[in-house]
Amino acid sequence: MKVLVLNSGSSSIKYQLFEMRDESVLAAGSIEQIDEPGSHLSHCVRSPQGEMTKTLRTLPINDHRQGFALIASVLKETGALADTGELKGIGHRVVHGGEKFKEPTRVTPEVLSTIRALIPLAPLHNPANLLGMEVAMESAPSVPQVAVFDTAFHQSIPRHAYHYAIPKKLYEAHQVRRYGFHGTSHRYVVKKAAEFLQKPLESLNLISLHLGNGASAAAIRQGRCIDTSMGLTPLEGLIMGTRCGDLDPAIIFYLERETGLTSGAIESILNKESGLKGICGVNDMRTVGEMASAGNPEAQLAITMYCYRIKKYIGAYYAVLGGLDGLIFTGGIGENADFIRAACCEGLAHLGLKMDNGKNLGRPEGCSAMESKDSRARILVIPTNEELEIAEQTVACLEAEPL
Ligand code: AMP
Repeated sequence: MKVLVLNSGSSSIKYQLFEMRDESVLAAGSIEQIDEPGSHLSHCVRSPQGEMTKTLRTLPINDHRQGFALIASVLKETGALADTGELKGIGHRVVHGGEKFKEPTRVTPEVLSTIRALIPLAPLHNPANLLGMEVAMESAPSVPQVAVFDTAFHQSIPRHAYHYAIPKKLYEAHQVRRYGFHGTSHRYVVKKAAEFLQKPLESLNLISLHLGNGASAAAIRQGRCIDTSMGLTPLEGLIMGTRCGDLDPAIIFYLERETGLTSGAIESILNKESGLKGICGVNDMRTVGEMASAGNPEAQLAITMYCYRIKKYIGAYYAVLGGLDGLIFTGGIGENADFIRAACCEGLAHLGLKMDNGKNLGRPEGCSAMESKDSRARILVIPTNEELEIAEQTVACLEAEPL
């Protein structure tokens, strides 16, 4: 049973084709710079011996429709998928599902209109996600399509955690509330944590830290998300590569008055020029780590601030969970940066989190435990796999709602 996962951006389409029997990746790739000079396809396909072969083609790709047709034809040429009719379904990553979508949902014209109505909440992402779904539906009309939302996992957050302390009418008229993002990743790693610990997810209290270019924390009580650090948008919460995370909201008005910058310009600074980049000039944690080791004081400050913010969230979520079974690190930084994991856990023995510095070294293979023998809670590194989670949810949705 084959499932194609699509992640459609404004000028790109990323894809992975899965064989769901053994959850293996048959092919994966991306189309980049759609409707720009240099548009190209990068495609990897798995041979019967299990080796991946990569091809790169630069050619004019004028729109997403051509992009989808190219993906279908390269999948056919390389023997990964003879025809889109072979697909059990196509799963689409959709960034914002608002309050409407709490689960993966079969895509219909009504669902598309509902997602369109949510564009004001995700003006950069939802239009591109919609375009990907429309093109895939037109090009492969007989294949069922499923939308999987980044916000859905967080829909279990209770009202006292998702409301902001602002006039109620701003929620009622404009849906201003905490939604949270990275839900597909958080859902995947907490499921994997339960498997790794050989315990039912419903019995576990976990804190999940997705630390990539974007970063968020989620508090999971008995398998359900009860709070998360990102809010109405992905700007709130942890310090990220280029996003500031938590901030006194009055800073925005102060900057408007003092600098004459427009709110749009300030929004761009907070999203694209802040975070690690704002503190030390570089947004890539690998480089920040190298600079800090070489003695650069700004890079050292950036790492200290980054981990301090994470620790504050660990403390807050520990308090609201009322007990912790495990702390999960995932994402490019969480999976790879041992110095960040060590600094986030340093001094948390009083919360029952004690790292074994030897086990923590390097990048572990698969799921691994990093805590010392006398740690009350587990400290886990779990590689995330959002595409596989989307594929699994696509199958689950189609099996729950057959045509
Ligand atoms: P992601 O968005 O999940 O792909 O994560 C990207 C982030 O992971 C970037 O900040 C990378 O610098 C960081 N990263 C990847 N590998 C390493 C590594 N070995 N050490 C430190 N940071 C890393």
